[in-house]
Amino acid sequence: MEQLTTIDAVRAHVAAQRRAGARVALVPTMGALHEGHLALVEAAQRHAEVVIVSIFVNPTQFDRADDLEAYPRDLPGDLAALRALPTPPSGVFTPAVGELYPTAPRTRVSVAGLTDGLCGASRPGHFDGVATVVTKLLTIVAPDVAVFGRKDRQQLEVIRTLVADLDLPVTVLGVPTVRDPDGLARSSRNRRLSPAARQVALALPRSLAAAARAGVASRGGGGLDPTAIAAAAQQVLATAGVQPEYLEAVDPVTLAPPPDGTAVRLLVAVAAVIDGVRLIDNVEVGDPDDEAALLALA
Ligand code: AMP
Repeated sequence: MEQLTTIDAVRAHVAAQRRAGARVALVPTMGALHEGHLALVEAAQRHAEVVIVSIFVNPTQFDRADDLEAYPRDLPGDLAALRALPTPPSGVFTPAVGELYPTAPRTRVSVAGLTDGLCGASRPGHFDGVATVVTKLLTIVAPDVAVFGRKDRQQLEVIRTLVADLDLPVTVLGVPTVRDPDGLARSSRNRRLSPAARQVALALPRSLAAAARAGVASRGGGGLDPTAIAAAAQQVLATAGVQPEYLEAVDPVTLAPPPDGTAVRLLVAVAAVIDGVRLIDNVEVGDPDDEAALLALA
């Protein structure tokens, strides 16, 4: 595994591998790696011989300076975790901020519509920052495949859209959410949860499990009922004393309110700040694979 810190070094590394006929996959991350990230690397390795992991805490996607400041960073631990994989990635790109943004950014990639709701409503500019840095990474690495987690489902749909709209020659792969045994979605931010706050945070996956159960119950007659499904999830949050930033049942592709009574799949997405730590999670109700891990919770 080679650590690469400059754009030129990444391009040279990838070009050399390409000359040998390898397919290339990119896994963009912000570091503080956990098993969710490692699952993306393993998925990438199933699709390409050469995997590049990027680790970059992208300042332009943080709407609050204190959140950027508090974001966990652990480069030595990250490099050790990647080296310890059965097959380490071929390269890890760890640019300094000045390497990706040598000047104050003038050009911005902005995906309209999809970014207005859910996390976009409370984090102004967040998805422009994500879309711009991912476009830059896709241009730098020029991978055949780019791998993202379904935990950040709105981000995944934003990236699918920008890739389609800008005709970028890359296949976008979405990987299922990796959870702790008690259901909590793995997240770099979990490191900042006290044991008590972590217990409260379990209300998120439990609320999504309630949504999945409500979906199962409503299946059979007509489409899924977004109001009943959201209410089932909301009830669990209320019982735990968690006031969500949002809890919505939306169309999984448009992220807009679903067509009345005909939806066969609904994305139930939730965000909440628990003891100062902002957490997100989601389930696609009607997708048996996505529901299974949550329905298995007690
Ligand atoms: P981040 O470092 O949080 O920006 O995440 C980098 C990538 O890892 C994104 O594509 C995330 O969706 C993905 N990811 C983060 N947590 C998980 C998880 N628990 N399961 C699967 N993918 C994840």
